[in-house]
Amino acid sequence: MKGDMAGGAAVCGAVLALAENRVPVNVTAVIPAVENRISPASFLPDDVIGSMSGKTIEVGNTDAEGRLILADGLTWAAREEKCTRLVDAATLTGAIWAMLGYVTAGVMASDDGWYGRLEAAAALLKRLQKAGIRAKMDDSDQSMGWKAAQYEMKGVPLRVEIGPKDMEKGQCCICRRDSGEKRFVPLDQLEDDVRWLLDDVHKSLYARAKKNLEDHTRVCLTVEEVKQFMEAEGGFAKTMWCGELDCELAMKEKAGVTSRCMPLEQEHVADVCVCCGKPAKHSILWGVAY
Ligand SMILES: [Zn+2]
Repeated sequence: MKGDMAGGAAVCGAVLALAENRVPVNVTAVIPAVENRISPASFLPDDVIGSMSGKTIEVGNTDAEGRLILADGLTWAAREEKCTRLVDAATLTGAIWAMLGYVTAGVMASDDGWYGRLEAAAALLKRLQKAGIRAKMDDSDQSMGWKAAQYEMKGVPLRVEIGPKDMEKGQCCICRRDSGEKRFVPLDQLEDDVRWLLDDVHKSLYARAKKNLEDHTRVCLTVEEVKQFMEAEGGFAKTMWCGELDCELAMKEKAGVTSRCMPLEQEHVADVCVCCGKPAKHSILWGVAY
């Protein structure tokens, strides 16, 4: 009887955990509470009472007060709070722990499809995390389109999707953010494929950034050339430099650029400094600072 409050306590704990972890979901907790102590007004076996939903209930057992208020709690959540998914945590019957023990919960769902998807997604999440991959599950009621746009915006490199048809086929769908390409992956290859894909996304982003840098870097031999390139296209001008501060300041004055980087891998693009014409010591990249 003391343990009968465990369902309500679990709901309390779940809501606190959601709040402490700042999980962006809209959750309402309903905790109906009651005491089945003896009093002249107590219900008796054979009494017929009304519930909030309008259904009448014949009392067959006076130790069943928990499920009576739970029925009203569920009606309240749906009717008054307009909740769309109801999860009730209750310690209604000792038969569950007699069967499953103390650390496993018995779950009964009126929508097996939804629960099955939730369970399958949670299992995938666990597998990815166990493999050392940083992953997060969005099991909110938002539409698939909303979720896709949301995580694309956040820059999440891979999106793993699983639906009822995928579950039947033992597969999931993985979508890459860099190319938008989708591929179906057998569930038993999940960890290997995610690792390979993350690596490939990294390589492709790096190659794209490198090409972008190279496409916008030009070798210039005169200050005038640097100035024209900056005005016409913009990017990085690669020149030679004598190493003197005066020339660096003059570049800012004449071409509107400052030194951005002296590459570790030096190149010989000319013999003399782009600015003063004296013998050059370094190759250097110039750009406009914003
Ligand atoms: Zn110089």
